[in-house]
Amino acid sequence: MITLDKFYINGEWVAPAAPKMMPVLTPSTNAQVGTVALGNEVDVDRAVAASKAAFETFSMTTKAERLALLRRLADVTKARLGDLAAAITMEMGAPATMSRESQAQSGLGHLESFIAALEAHDEEETLPNGDIVSYEPIGVCGLITPWNWPVNQIALKVVPALATGSTCVLKPSEHTPLSARIYAELIHEAGYPAGVFNLVFGDGISVGSALSKHPDVAMMSFTGSTRAGSAVSRDAAATIKRVTLELGGKSPNVIFADCDVDAAVAEGVSSCFDNTGQSCNAPTKMLVERSVYARALDVARKTAEATKVDDPMVEGDHIGPLFDRLQYERVQAMIQKGLEEGSTLLAGGLGRPDGLAKHLQTGWFARPTIFSDVTPDMSVWREEIFGPVLIIAPFDTEDEAIAMANDTEYGLDAYLSTGDEARAMRVSRRLRAGGIHINGRASDYGSPFGGFKQSGNGREGGKFGLEDYVEVKVRPPFAQWP
Ligand code: NDP
Repeated sequence: MITLDKFYINGEWVAPAAPKMMPVLTPSTNAQVGTVALGNEVDVDRAVAASKAAFETFSMTTKAERLALLRRLADVTKARLGDLAAAITMEMGAPATMSRESQAQSGLGHLESFIAALEAHDEEETLPNGDIVSYEPIGVCGLITPWNWPVNQIALKVVPALATGSTCVLKPSEHTPLSARIYAELIHEAGYPAGVFNLVFGDGISVGSALSKHPDVAMMSFTGSTRAGSAVSRDAAATIKRVTLELGGKSPNVIFADCDVDAAVAEGVSSCFDNTGQSCNAPTKMLVERSVYARALDVARKTAEATKVDDPMVEGDHIGPLFDRLQYERVQAMIQKGLEEGSTLLAGGLGRPDGLAKHLQTGWFARPTIFSDVTPDMSVWREEIFGPVLIIAPFDTEDEAIAMANDTEYGLDAYLSTGDEARAMRVSRRLRAGGIHINGRASDYGSPFGGFKQSGNGREGGKFGLEDYVEVKVRPPFAQWP
C-alpha cells in the first residue's frame, strides 16, 4: 500500500495543512493500492507563496542555465521511465507495453521537443520599426492535469513553465497521484531551485478552484472536461488571468473510397480503442464513402472482435479497463443510449467482455463497441463518450463528408484517408480542427496540439507551447535625451 501524505512545496515534502486522505484504486480490480492526501486553500496559498518567491530569481536565469536544467531533467527522466510506466499502469490501467512505449515515453518526447524549441527560441527580437520585443516568463502558473494521459499532460504544462523561467504549482488528478509524485522527484533530482515547481494533491472543487482564483497566479493551464474547463475560466476571470484549455473532442475520421480502405478502417478502429478510448483526440466518428461502406463495416466489425481486452499488468497490444466506476457507468449509459436511439450495434455492447480472468471481474473492463448507421440526431453522434465506442456513418460527396465531420461543438483533431493529394489538401483546409491526421500519419512531438471551438484554446508542445507561458514586452532602442 502506497501512502502519499505529503505535498512538494518549496523544495521539500511537507504535511498538508489539514489531514484528509482518499483511497487510490487500481482500475483492473478496483482494489485499493494506496492513499493520497487531499489539500485545501491553505496548501495552495503555501505553494503559490513559494512559487512567487522563487519567480524573483528563476525568472532572471539565462536560457543556457534553463537548458542545462532541462537536460538534467531529461537524463533523470530516462532513468525512471520504467517507474513512471509502472505507476501509470497501476493508477489508470493502461496496459504495461502501452504505458512504457506511449504514456511514459511521451513525457520524454515532449521534454526533448521543448529543449529543441527553447534552443531555437530568441528571447529578444528587433521589429522592422527598430523597436525591441522581449519574451519574458509570465509568472506563477497554475497547472491542472487529468488522469487519462497523466505524464503526457504534466510534461506538456510543467516543462514549458520551467523552460521559459516561470514557476508553477501542479494539481494533478488526485486519482492518478503515483506518476505525479515520481515527476516531482525527477524535478527535485534534476536540481531545480526550491519553489520553482510545487505539487499539491487535491480535488478540483477545492485545490483546483483555489488555484484558479488565486491573485498571485498569473496563468492557468487546464486539461480535462469542457465542464471543468469552463469552471476554471470563470474562476480565473476575476483576476484577469491568462487561461489555456485543452478539452474534449469528437474527432471525425473521414475515409474516401480512393484510399486503402481496409488499412484505413482497421487503423481507425484501433486508434479509437487505444487507451480504452480515453483520449481527447481519439477518432471516434468514422465517416465512410458509401461505395465502400459495406466493406468498411465488415473490416470494422472484425477489428473490434479481434481487439483483446485483458489485464494491464501483462505485456501485449491488448486494451485495459476503463479508469474508474464513474467512467464505466458513463460509458455503459452511452452504449444504452446508442441502443435506444436506433443505430445498429455492429460489435460489443453493454457489460463486461466475455472470458475475463476471475481476478479481473471486479475491474472496469468494457466491450469494444461499434454503432453503425448513426445519424446526427443521436447522442452517440454528438457526445464525447471517452470509452472504446466507435460510431460509423456513410456519406456520398466530399461536401457532405466535410459538413458531417464539422458537425460537432468540438474541434480537436480530424483524421482523413484518401489516395488523392489534392483532395487531402482541400479537405484538410475545410476541416475545423487543430490537428489533421492524413493516411494514418499524425504530427510529431514539438508540433502544436490543441483545439478549435469548444475543444479549448492555446496550443501545447514545442515552440507554440512555450508561447503560452511568456509575456511580450516592447521598448525602443536606447538613445540619450536629444
Ligand atoms: P474533469 O475535467 O472533471 O477532471 C480533470 C481535472 O480537472 C481533474 O484534476 C479535476 O479534479 C479537475 N477539476 C474538476 N473540476 C474542476 C474545477 N471546477 N476547477 C478546477 N479543476 C477542476 O474530468 P473527469 O475526470 O470528471 O472526466 C469527465 C469527462 O471529461 C470524461 O468522460 C471525458 O469526456 C472528459 N475528459 C477529457 C480529458 C481530456 O484529455 N481532454 C481528460 C479527462 C476527462 P477532480 O478529479 O477533483 O474532479
